[in-house]
Amino acid sequence: MIESKVSLKQFNTFGIDVSSKFFAQAQNEDEVRSVIQSNEFLNNENLILGGGSNILFTKNFDGIVLRNNIGGVEVLEETSESVLVKVGGGVVWHEFVLFCISQGWNGTENLSLIPGSVGASPMQNIGAYGVEIKEIFHELEAIHLKTGEIQYFNNTECDFGYRESVFKNKHKGEYLISRVTFRLSKIPNFNVSYGAIEKQLEVMNVRDLTAKSVSDAVVSIRQSKLPDPKKIGNSGSFFKNPIVDELIYKEVKRKYPDAVGYSVGKGKMKLAAGWLIDQAGWKGKTIGNYGVHKNQALVIVNYGGATGQQIFDLSTNILDSIKNKFGVQLEREVNIY
Ligand code: FAD
Ligand code: NAP
Repeated sequence: MIESKVSLKQFNTFGIDVSSKFFAQAQNEDEVRSVIQSNEFLNNENLILGGGSNILFTKNFDGIVLRNNIGGVEVLEETSESVLVKVGGGVVWHEFVLFCISQGWNGTENLSLIPGSVGASPMQNIGAYGVEIKEIFHELEAIHLKTGEIQYFNNTECDFGYRESVFKNKHKGEYLISRVTFRLSKIPNFNVSYGAIEKQLEVMNVRDLTAKSVSDAVVSIRQSKLPDPKKIGNSGSFFKNPIVDELIYKEVKRKYPDAVGYSVGKGKMKLAAGWLIDQAGWKGKTIGNYGVHKNQALVIVNYGGATGQQIFDLSTNILDSIKNKFGVQLEREVNIY
């Protein structure tokens, strides 16, 4: 059913109080097709929505929002070493992670507690603690929004990059990702060298590494650092870590010896944007009812009642200040509408 003038406040984790001219939810592929063939869809701009955890609405949406609720988890193939599992795009990502852990399937544990839906996970090749979904991704099914046909994309065709995919670039706005298939390993091979995981495992006195213990460590670190969107509006990291030429990195490092950077190969370095924003004095800064989170400078927060435009303007001020201070151009990670 297509509704008119629906508040989107509960559908975006920033908690921005805007409305959509039309709004629909789809539980399966047939419902998606029925919405995309409607006059409301054909005559208006559209937005496919998952959990709304990587979105900033700066104004009312003058078109139709289609929320993807396609569910289901189906094992396609299983051997003693791995499993191929197809997951509905509307499944909550962290619920899928917990399901994998309960089944003894490894590969998603470092990506624990990332908000949002399975269908959005390929959009920006979600990543955390040294793992990105491209490492466990097998294939996805996407419904073409003009023809209603299902098309399949393999790993290469998704053209995954650092918080990037073909769906944010060449195919932006063309598809609804309806189902995603992952290959998960039954053989334990954990990546705990990243960030604070090892330290947290020690604090938790973990001796035998399991997907569950790694996931518990990740959840614990995230809960201590990141604002819970149910309590404080946010969309996670507002900015991407900039990838810069080694020469630029060396220049920043010469002026600021404490600058944090990591090699990403091919003469490029990834600078920690959180460090840059912190050094520029933004961490914990509050402007009325919004600001920069006190524990994580990459996260912009809405304490309640801020408008999307205010948050967008703050992000512009941060971009300008980092450019002026370090000569580095940051990019927003959050999708702006
Ligand atoms: P939405 O916000 O609903 O949509 C995001 C974009 O994808 C929009 O452009 C939308 O149109 C499009 N889209 C959504 N679903 C579909 C679909 N089925 N088909 C086609 N297009 C679609 N991200 C990380 O990568 N790593 C992290 O560690 C991480 N931590 C976070 C922590 C917090 C506290 C928060 C709030 C966010 C975090 N994020 C992180 C960002 C966010 O959780 C992810 O990007 C997530 O994948 C977004 O999913 P969603 O369903 O909420 O997408
Ligand atoms: P952190 O562990 O304090 O690390 C700070 C930054 O340094 C991160 O941005 C991370 O880059 C980078 N980094 C740390 N160790 C690294 C290593 N061994 N090799 C290469 N780069 C390294 O970061 P955090 O803020 O607590 O976040 C932890 C993880 O969760 C990170 O992977 C982060 O991306 C992810 N996260 C993402 C979001 C989001 O919305 N996108 C929100 C919260 C957390 P990367 O960011 O490239 O990993």
